[in-house]
Amino acid sequence: MQKGLLIVISGASGTGKGTVCKKLIGELPTLFYSISATTRQPRAGETDGVEYFFITVDEFKNWIAEGKFLEYAEVYGNFYGTPIHKIEERLNRGEDVILEIDIQGALNVMKKRPDGVYIFLLPPSLEELKNRIQGRGTESQESFERRFKAAADEIATGKKYQYVVVNDKVDAAVEKIKMILAAERCKVQRNENLFENLL
Ligand code: ADP
Ligand code: 5GP
Repeated sequence: MQKGLLIVISGASGTGKGTVCKKLIGELPTLFYSISATTRQPRAGETDGVEYFFITVDEFKNWIAEGKFLEYAEVYGNFYGTPIHKIEERLNRGEDVILEIDIQGALNVMKKRPDGVYIFLLPPSLEELKNRIQGRGTESQESFERRFKAAADEIATGKKYQYVVVNDKVDAAVEKIKMILAAERCKVQRNENLFENLL
């Protein structure tokens, strides 16, 4: 059986990572969305254990000390980390796992897992990015400025990823990601058993 794909998706705040991932998960029921832990405050409508595990800074430090994270990073003044628990188990069962994480975290995962699928999501323009962050209505003026200011550097780092997808229309972006995943599953190095079975 083929191992599942470890998929990493990143992009500047407001690009639409959450929106695209939600739709992708709705369409691919066997895709496991890795729920991160964070020390940031929940936004209106966010539920502990659904979007994130919302924990305190002390709890976060304990999780680091206990080796519970595959990676973690400080992003826009808060800590975020990917719990390692269950990821390997699911991949070995042939299930795909998606991590929606920032570029620092993604670059760390790239070193540990070169077989991962690294996708960078771009907004159609910086103006549209600004409108999306503001339109979401979740950030204070200070948080908005911090996130928007970081966007250009984050986007420049996107060149280190393997794939780039512009999130102009959500449906089109989701379709492109599904095609990337289909192509990845056809890679020779993921299918060596097919050759061995025949020869
Ligand atoms: P991120 O997770 O990257 O920070 P979100 O998924 O929260 O971004 O999206 C930011 C805002 O932009 C949300 O209000 C969302 O509804 C909107 N949005 C996301 N994708 C699109 C799109 N393709 N076209 C228009 N608006 C979008
Ligand atoms: P937000 O506060 O908008 O939910 O997320 C802020 C940033 O943190 C986004 O770029 C998001 O991808 C990133 N992020 C979310 N979870 C993790 C994680 O587990 N690790 C890392 N490194 N970044 C994360």
